[in-house]
Amino acid sequence: MADPFVVVGGDAAGLSAASKYRRANPDGDVVVFEKGRWVSYAHCGTPYYVKGEVDRLTDLLSLSPEAAAERGIDLRRDHEVVAVDTDAEQVTVEHDGERFVQPYGDLLVATGAHAVTAPIEGFERELAFTMHGLDSAAAIRAALADPDEPAVDTSIEYVDADRVNHYAAMVPPERVAIVGGGYVGVEMAEAFRAHDLETHVFQRGSHLLSPFGDAVCERVADHLREQGVHLHLDTTVAELAGGDRVEAVVHDDGRVPVDLALVGIGVAPNTELLDPTPVELGESGAVSVDDYGRTTVDGVYAAGDCAEDSHTVTGAPAWVPLGLTANRAGRAIGQTVAGDPEPVGDVAGTAVVKAFELEAGRVGVIDHDDARAAGFDPVTEQVTAGSRSGYYPGNEPTTVSLTADRETGRLLGGSIVGRDRAAIRIDTLATALESDLTVPEVERLDLAYAPPFSPVWDPVLVAAKVLRSELD
Ligand SMILES: Cc1cc2nc3c(=O)[nH]c(=O)nc-3n(C[C@H](O)[C@H](O)[C@H](O)COP(=O)(O)OP(=O)(O)OC[C@H]3O[C@@H](n4cnc5c(N)ncnc54)[C@H](O)[C@@H]3O)c2cc1C
Repeated sequence: MADPFVVVGGDAAGLSAASKYRRANPDGDVVVFEKGRWVSYAHCGTPYYVKGEVDRLTDLLSLSPEAAAERGIDLRRDHEVVAVDTDAEQVTVEHDGERFVQPYGDLLVATGAHAVTAPIEGFERELAFTMHGLDSAAAIRAALADPDEPAVDTSIEYVDADRVNHYAAMVPPERVAIVGGGYVGVEMAEAFRAHDLETHVFQRGSHLLSPFGDAVCERVADHLREQGVHLHLDTTVAELAGGDRVEAVVHDDGRVPVDLALVGIGVAPNTELLDPTPVELGESGAVSVDDYGRTTVDGVYAAGDCAEDSHTVTGAPAWVPLGLTANRAGRAIGQTVAGDPEPVGDVAGTAVVKAFELEAGRVGVIDHDDARAAGFDPVTEQVTAGSRSGYYPGNEPTTVSLTADRETGRLLGGSIVGRDRAAIRIDTLATALESDLTVPEVERLDLAYAPPFSPVWDPVLVAAKVLRSELD
């Protein structure tokens, strides 16, 4: 019997691959090893679970172990892959304190990423969290709730009941710190304010959401202040100080007393498993792969947050740890391993975020230094236009910023911010980038118009018109 397709990691990339593989090759064997209890879960929904908008943790699950079994996937939870031997084509797995060896025909490494806390000291203190995984979400929500009104259902088999009960018994915090003003920090600020907590966001640079560009950053910062969030920009946090529990955030210019701290300063790819193997990593530290997700070792694939992709605009390797990238690459690899090769697709760095009432999106290359490094001569124009016909209720100012290459007129990237369905408009630009459109071509797009949805000239078209004048 042939050795099975072995997948390491039972979430977005791993289970997408296993599902697609079984659909494309119903007679093939696939084994998925997941070191935790949760499988097929939505990290992306966790801020909204903490906020209370999503009621139950199980609402964030997609494919249950039973449904995976029905698809013919041999899914093993609480099984950690502790070694990969690419010469012998086998992995070593640890389960219940025992180790065993599993040979593979093909191997997919879909181990994801982990939240970084260094160099901030004091993270080991009680009530210092990162937001990575459903156990973190459960612990934070338990900690915010009144001990008399527990918020997390510990009867769910997956939930770490001891951990949840530990936090649920504590006096709920009144003041919280978020270290890091990226999208997780911004989403968590909304979640904490929904619980009426004094919320402080500390950001090392001068901008929140810096990959979204200046227009977005400034508007989001103003909006967060309007919502009562205390912003500490240009502030580097050194330590979460206190005794057993976090009591204060110590930064380069002072100290702010808090009762709970969330560190959201970024993620790093989980690649340690591959360190002793010849599988090569890229400059980002994530696994280097080709257009089909193949690593530098035959029969070994990598996908999702632990792997690089190719950038739509620059063609260079890019590490963009986001949900669609993981699902899409996993699915393509499942099909390729089943014998029908499918490219994993490029990434344009398309991202959207909700910050209270505001929405923002970004795509492509918008930073001028990055554009120049990729050989472009960047030019950017920004407009603010209505989201609907001026006379129609709900019309909101929507700011669109577009960047193009001066020489060729090719669109390089853009960002959008506003209140009325602004974020999703970024998909027009993502599509334009995928098709290598020039600014005049974007200007000529036949976008939809009716007063409740858009003005005759969609804000994206207005921005393209203005940028075209500059290019002309
Ligand atoms: C708070 C938060 C909000 C987010 N919001 C968004 C969003 O709005 N939009 C978006 O596009 N993306 C968002 N993301 C990112 C998105 O969730 C990830 O890109 C996606 O989950 C990556 O999927 P993955 O399968 O590569 O990795 P993961 O989802 O991290 O899964 C990897 C799995 O591998 C397992 N594993 C690791 N090592 C081993 C081992 N040695 N043996 C066995 N199992 C192992 C892990 O336990 C884990 O279950 C968010 C992430 C977070 C943390």
